[in-house]
Amino acid sequence: MKDAINQLIQYSHSIAARDLVLGSSGNISLKSGTDMLIKASGVCMSESQSSDFIRVDLKNLSYKNKKLKPSCESKMHAICYAMRPEINCVIHTHPLYATTLVSCSINPRLISPEFILSIGSEMKVVEYACPGTEELAERVGQAVKSSNIVYLKNHGLLVVGKTLQQAYTRTLLAEQMAKMQIIGQLLGKKLKGLSSAQAKKLLAHLQVK
Ligand SMILES: [Zn+2]
Repeated sequence: MKDAINQLIQYSHSIAARDLVLGSSGNISLKSGTDMLIKASGVCMSESQSSDFIRVDLKNLSYKNKKLKPSCESKMHAICYAMRPEINCVIHTHPLYATTLVSCSINPRLISPEFILSIGSEMKVVEYACPGTEELAERVGQAVKSSNIVYLKNHGLLVVGKTLQQAYTRTLLAEQMAKMQIIGQLLGKKLKGLSSAQAKKLLAHLQVK
């Protein structure tokens, strides 16, 4: 438990240091048995400490903390764990480039083998829905069934992983890919991504699932 909280604090601080969230936005959770440990609502990732993470029941979203409320996106996190039993963490951020790209209705491209090897060849983009709502949680839940990464139009990014390190790296890679794509567009060039056939060949070649 203490180790889990320490990890959540460490990655929350790293996420904030990279400007992947501003203020108290974004949220992070780690599965713990039939519960999840999730950042409290209104807490800045940059300043988070052990008392800022709340244990929430994954089935009914109940919690015992009397001082703080869990993130308003708890339902979105819980649905990811329900859809993907093998994952242990969810990171939701508001990265500048990734959010800009999909909000311009430009589909993200598979640019580098590094991205594909970390995230896979499936990427999902969901239409805007009001943050914290059942509607958004349902959209993300459907998308995450077949993808480790979900871009939220006019909102941000959600990434799942088996470990916090994996989800964090995937978040950084997604932002880097979006940055490359936008720089390509600013240079007046359309950055060509790898095709799904090339991605499949790469994954098969290196025997990565
Ligand atoms: Zn958000």
